[in-house]
Amino acid sequence: MSNQETRSQLSSSSDCLNEVASVQRINARSAEIGGTLTVNRVLPTRQRRMIGAWCFLDHAGPAHFAPGEGMHVGAHPHTCLQTFTWMIEGEVMHRDSLGNEQVLRPGEVNLMTAGRGISHTEDSLPSASGLHAAQLWIALPKTHGHCDPDFTHYPDLPRWTAQGVKHSLLVGSYAGYRSAVQVHSPLLAMDLESTQGAALVLDLDPRFEHGILLLEGELSIGTEVFSENQLAYMGCGHQSLKVHLAPGCRAILLGGEPFTDEILMFWNFVGYSKAEIADAWRDWNAGDARFGRVTGYQGEPLQAPALPWRA
Ligand code: MN
Repeated sequence: MSNQETRSQLSSSSDCLNEVASVQRINARSAEIGGTLTVNRVLPTRQRRMIGAWCFLDHAGPAHFAPGEGMHVGAHPHTCLQTFTWMIEGEVMHRDSLGNEQVLRPGEVNLMTAGRGISHTEDSLPSASGLHAAQLWIALPKTHGHCDPDFTHYPDLPRWTAQGVKHSLLVGSYAGYRSAVQVHSPLLAMDLESTQGAALVLDLDPRFEHGILLLEGELSIGTEVFSENQLAYMGCGHQSLKVHLAPGCRAILLGGEPFTDEILMFWNFVGYSKAEIADAWRDWNAGDARFGRVTGYQGEPLQAPALPWRA
């Protein structure tokens, strides 16, 4: 997906301090990403920029499409990040400048590593009557920021039921399970789903900061109730956390070691300096070979908006 916010501001990972001891509540805002679809954007916000290397959280849907509607995101670039897409409902065709064409279906993950530069498109299949997905961005640590671009499709993830909750381990390790999804810093992502409602004790890594992104229904932590499109953020130092999932609750637990490299985000670019962001901006708008070409889709590439400073 593409960040289309016109008032896109340069933001720094050090804008927020990591001193929050209790649970911080963050409300999503709506953002346009292309086609007829509006998503709920949970990070970054002024109150919080990141959870570990997770630097951008979009929740798309659940949405139903009239005939001819759907998500259509034209060719756009990324740098120094991975896009992580978790499909709950719907089918989306991913095409990228490496020549990959991959339909993403429910229960599957697409992971695209931008490294020094990649471009891609995302289109709902004409047969898709709706969409429910999370697209999350992972900042690459500076040591890997300019690695070769890559794309990997993960059709099978560890799944189990415990304490009345369906678990799908998306990234990292949990309860003896391990996800094959290849990331470059210590991270966790786990989908939790309860049809009947459940009390669940989560085992947390105290070195990680954590967030719980509510996709559907309600979840409580102590007396605090969180609902759809809210994020409950907890700082480091927690060994476990008791949560109550209301019937029909679906949420993603995210975690990671606090990210220590300073990053800047602008439009669809992550970089480690303004000069890097300006280079990527110039290269994309000039059609430089760095971002390759996506073939096999209809439509014009997206233009990067003006930089928010004089380059
Ligand atoms: Mn994208």
